[in-house]
Amino acid sequence: MNAFIYQSNPSRVVFGAGALQHLAREIEALGARRALILSTPEQAASARHVAELLGDRAVGIFAKAVMHVPIESAREARDEAKRLGADCAVAIGGGSTTGLGKAIALESGLPILAIPTTYAGSEMTSIYGITEAGLKKTGRDARVLPRTVIYDPELTLTLPLGMTVTSGLNAIAHAAEGLYAHDGNPIMSMMAEEGIRATAAAMPRLAIDTKDVAARADMLYGAWLCGTVLGAVSMGLHHKLCHTLGGSFNLPHAEVHTVILPHALAYNAAHAPEAMQRVARGLGSASAAAGVFDLAHRHHAPTALKDIGMPADGLDHAADIAVQNQYPNPRPLERAAIRELLQRAFDGTRPD
Ligand code: NAD
Repeated sequence: MNAFIYQSNPSRVVFGAGALQHLAREIEALGARRALILSTPEQAASARHVAELLGDRAVGIFAKAVMHVPIESAREARDEAKRLGADCAVAIGGGSTTGLGKAIALESGLPILAIPTTYAGSEMTSIYGITEAGLKKTGRDARVLPRTVIYDPELTLTLPLGMTVTSGLNAIAHAAEGLYAHDGNPIMSMMAEEGIRATAAAMPRLAIDTKDVAARADMLYGAWLCGTVLGAVSMGLHHKLCHTLGGSFNLPHAEVHTVILPHALAYNAAHAPEAMQRVARGLGSASAAAGVFDLAHRHHAPTALKDIGMPADGLDHAADIAVQNQYPNPRPLERAAIRELLQRAFDGTRPD
């Protein structure tokens, strides 16, 4: 075994169907008395339910979270937290809502209690992102790592099948890149393979019945593991490409991950054979790249950039940005090969 460094992110996880009932206990354990509850406008009813559960420990609801945390919305939420004298933020929702909580914590140091309702995994990372003047800046800061995470599969029953599949593939992407990370370690690799297995195995069950609580629990468990990997080791070409495409062409986050992953894995395959074996084993497929593509295709998720709003004349620019800064990736970043990768992703060509 090679030498490695392992550092865990300190957070408390409360997992299980009905786990939301422990919210008041968990807020008390944080020593908080004045929680500000965050959600998107679409999930305002969930935020109100959380406020009811907290009674007088809830001081307000800010139901204006939007994708990619625009600086204006971060400022408004920070002002609201100050105005109300909040001593904690409760984020119920997907990565966008958790991201808003992180923007508040980055400035104020307020503890976050996250209640994830998608499989994006942001709740397990100290990575934040804030968008200003069309540019999304990301960074890592220990203050933004949620202190407590309540995973309650019952809260994911309303996630439509399409988003369930793409969000699950977003989770699988974290684990897949974690398996070939230059700063990876055997513990994270173990979590990554198990995360892929649990997520991929739950998908066909949810395709039959999106309200299957046991399958939802398995998927959320997989997403937790995959998110932990994202938080602990460095990501490579796949995440860089998705960040570029999402930011520069305003493409939907989980769908971009779904479309790019098979092609990023094919690009790296010959340079990371052991990682590919583990991805394939997790998927229960013969090949990592084709296995991910088939998983998406089988569940009617998008498999082509052209179908999710990518303009054909943007591919050259995307390839340029992807190679602007060198970063660790199993296969060196080659402009021509990345341009080809993007073309295949644009067309939706199945990798071998
Ligand atoms: P999202 O949070 O934008 O949610 C998409 C939509 O689904 C929203 O309208 C939301 O209200 C709704 N929704 C969420 N859960 C639902 C449920 N259970 N039932 C019905 N509707 C539900 O989507 P996302 O993919 O979770 O997050 C994407 C964002 O998170 C991106 O901005 C991405 O960059 C960020 N992200 C950050 C990290 C990190 O570590 N910092 C990790 C992953 C994703």
